[in-house]
Amino acid sequence: MSALPFLVGDSWVVGSGEPIRSVNPADATLNYEVSTADASQVDAAVRAAVKAQANPCWRRMKPHERARLLYRVAELIAARAEELAGRQMRENGKLRAECRGQAASAAATFRYYAAVCESASSELTAPRGSYYSMTVYEPVGVAAALTPWNSPLTMEAQKVAPALAAGNAVVLKPSEVTPTLGLELGRLCLEAGVPPGIVNVVAGRGQPTGLALLWHPQVRMFAFTGGTATGRVVARVAAERLVPTLLELGGKSPQIVFADADLDKAVAGVIDGIFSSTGQSCVAGSRLFVEASLYDRFLERLVEGTRKLKVGLPDAEGSQVGPLASFAHRDRVESYIEAARKERGEVLVGGRRPDSQELKKGAFYLPTVIVGLSNRARVCQEEIFGPVLCVLPFKDEDELVAQANDTVYGLACGIWTADYRKAWRVARAIEAGTIWINTYKQLSISTPFGGFKESGLGREKGVGGMRAYQLAKSLYWQVDA
Ligand code: NDP
Repeated sequence: MSALPFLVGDSWVVGSGEPIRSVNPADATLNYEVSTADASQVDAAVRAAVKAQANPCWRRMKPHERARLLYRVAELIAARAEELAGRQMRENGKLRAECRGQAASAAATFRYYAAVCESASSELTAPRGSYYSMTVYEPVGVAAALTPWNSPLTMEAQKVAPALAAGNAVVLKPSEVTPTLGLELGRLCLEAGVPPGIVNVVAGRGQPTGLALLWHPQVRMFAFTGGTATGRVVARVAAERLVPTLLELGGKSPQIVFADADLDKAVAGVIDGIFSSTGQSCVAGSRLFVEASLYDRFLERLVEGTRKLKVGLPDAEGSQVGPLASFAHRDRVESYIEAARKERGEVLVGGRRPDSQELKKGAFYLPTVIVGLSNRARVCQEEIFGPVLCVLPFKDEDELVAQANDTVYGLACGIWTADYRKAWRVARAIEAGTIWINTYKQLSISTPFGGFKESGLGREKGVGGMRAYQLAKSLYWQVDA
């Protein structure tokens, strides 16, 4: 099998780096090999991007024409949604239904940024003398986008669409676990008529490919989604090079259930909040705080609901929990369960691989609920990024807020209560970028998304999601009359 090429300008290039083996985590079969970019090929991609971005046809393209291109990309994604969904499913093991939803969401993201691009305007600002002052927005130039493996369909659209809407060129480096969704996005952009060189996709590992991209002197901005440890590496390069940087990082998000919550809805929301996507979601509600008076009753319902979840192949009818995205990642999740046991945590359900012969070949792990730990325990503090929920009781609101905020992360939080005053108080006190009240994991492309504390810097999505890829420029016009 020859290794797949990647995209530089309008050329499909076979890279000189060590190829990546894409393995289906549901059954350990080889999907394909993908060739990887060395430093000289990263350089070629950035040069292609610089040249294409400097072309007046792109730089001075009217917003409605740019929007038309983005709409065309959206249509092509929608037309190929089924194939893209199947591809993501085979690379990271997500349920087919979820992958379908993410393909639809990628198309919607391009549509949204087409509309943002077409309707965005410059601003007249208040003068303090005999002049008119205005602010216009210029593209940053070439943006480097680095993405993780858990949701390449949405994460890559979430970076490429606003970057293009803002008038930039992009060099995308997808995760080595999910190397080809980005390549397909690049192919669709070309097919839609986006000029060659505006979207380049270099396959490769974080080191050396990702790092070579970050250090390239002609890259003017970083858009990164991934783990907090890697985020620090990106931020260090950004500090040295002084380039604007968007960082969407990890989380250890609390779900909070008060005694007055609608029990059925809260149980369902907590289970879905942690176990959907097999827990491999940055916003997974992985720490659960339940008011003491409801604790035993809630736990019983939670364990019963968790045990009933159908763990199965990602495209099997009725599967609710698929495999983890790789075998190495399953090892990592398992090591956290060992750590929890060593700290005297009690595993109420799960805590092992499934018995079924059908699932033995894949990277499966059962949904797991752990009690008996303090919030300072390792599994309550570190992001596991797997189907593992730690449950803790709380007595009063102040103690709850202190514990929920006692983490280096601040990505999301869920609050379940019938009392809107309590919901308001707690929502304002929690240090997190997204708070869900009596719901969880609802996401809209029009609503800003990002983290407090070590969960990130800056915000994606919304109108600001396009502005993040632009630089404000202020003009003063002297008026002599
Ligand atoms: P990583 O941080 O390991 O990787 C993210 C990207 O960075 C990959 O493309 C990776 O390449 C690359 N990379 C890794 N090391 C380097 C390096 N030294 N220099 C340059 N690039 C590098 O994250 P994962 O792929 O493991 O994804 C899971 C993480 O992503 C979780 O922590 C999760 O919370 C976070 N995430 C955050 C989201 C948010 O919006 N806040 C959304 C989704 C996920 P390679 O694949 O080759 O290692």
